Amino acid sequence: MPDLPAETDTFIAELDAAVEAHMNWTRRIVRCAVLRSTPGEDVLDLQAHTLCHFGGWFMANRSHFEMLDAPSAARVEVVHQTMHDAIRSICNDIMIGRTGQETDLDAFEQSQSELLGLLASFKTLILSRAVRRDPLTQLPLRYGIENDFILYQKEARRNRTLLYVVIIDVDNFKPINDTYGHPVGDQVLRQLADTLKHTLRGDEPLYRYGGEEFLWLLKCKSATAARQSARRVLATVGTTPVLIDDQEVLRLTVTLGLALAGEQEDLASAIKRADLALYEGKRDGRNRFVIAEP
Ligand code: GH3
Ligand code: MG
Ligand code: MG
Repeated sequence: MPDLPAETDTFIAELDAAVEAHMNWTRRIVRCAVLRSTPGEDVLDLQAHTLCHFGGWFMANRSHFEMLDAPSAARVEVVHQTMHDAIRSICNDIMIGRTGQETDLDAFEQSQSELLGLLASFKTLILSRAVRRDPLTQLPLRYGIENDFILYQKEARRNRTLLYVVIIDVDNFKPINDTYGHPVGDQVLRQLADTLKHTLRGDEPLYRYGGEEFLWLLKCKSATAARQSARRVLATVGTTPVLIDDQEVLRLTVTLGLALAGEQEDLASAIKRADLALYEGKRDGRNRFVIAEP
């Protein structure tokens, strides 16, 4: 799942403003036609689509739109320019006292309607992603795991690679809450999530699975590679100090339960086995990983 811009609220507000500004064009064209008043030099500029507030903002945030839905992002760019080209042509005609072209009016109406539809779809997409994201750690929540798992399982079958379901559980987290309070516990979880995100590869999704538990879909070529990855996570977490409010530093450890997903196994079964392995790791002293029996 692609990262959303940090401020979803700001992003949605910009989208709403863009919709309103582009709906307003109908009114502005009518005013131009009735009063023969200039709609403004920026509108008549050949680069009007890049001069309008939305055009500038869209180009600055294009990568976010592309990550959400690349074909629709490309379409937004095209129809936005088409709309501004049509507006310019209509207003130019009016300003020199000529009747506007029907083709321009059709292009304006069609591109305006398509643009507003595309922006509405992006808004829905952004909001639905935002509610699937944990506000504390910014990690995806468990809703999307099933789909990702099925996708990766197919990919592993096709490429003859391995897929592990890994549960990562913070060791002795309750005493941190008890000693420093819940807000510090939250801060620790946030920092740990950042450490984990930076340790894992971009195509290996990490979810906030429960309170102080994370679920990781680990793709690798062999059991040896899986063990190496698990060791790397333990080492990174163990050597990354977690800063808490009064400059005090905490050392965290985690325990990992790994289950190699069978070619036909469902996610619930793999999670159950990973959980049993995690439990074994806790029982054996924590700060370790255990691989489940197939
Ligand atoms: P173990 O090593 O066996 O996993 O011990 P533990 O203390 O980590 O595990 P336990 O299940 O006893 O406690 C987990 C604690 O995590 C209890 C719960 O209050 C806390 N917790 C769960 N979610 C959150 C959260 O979002 N924020 C904070 N601050 N604490 C949380
Ligand atoms: Mg736990
Ligand atoms: Mg724990």
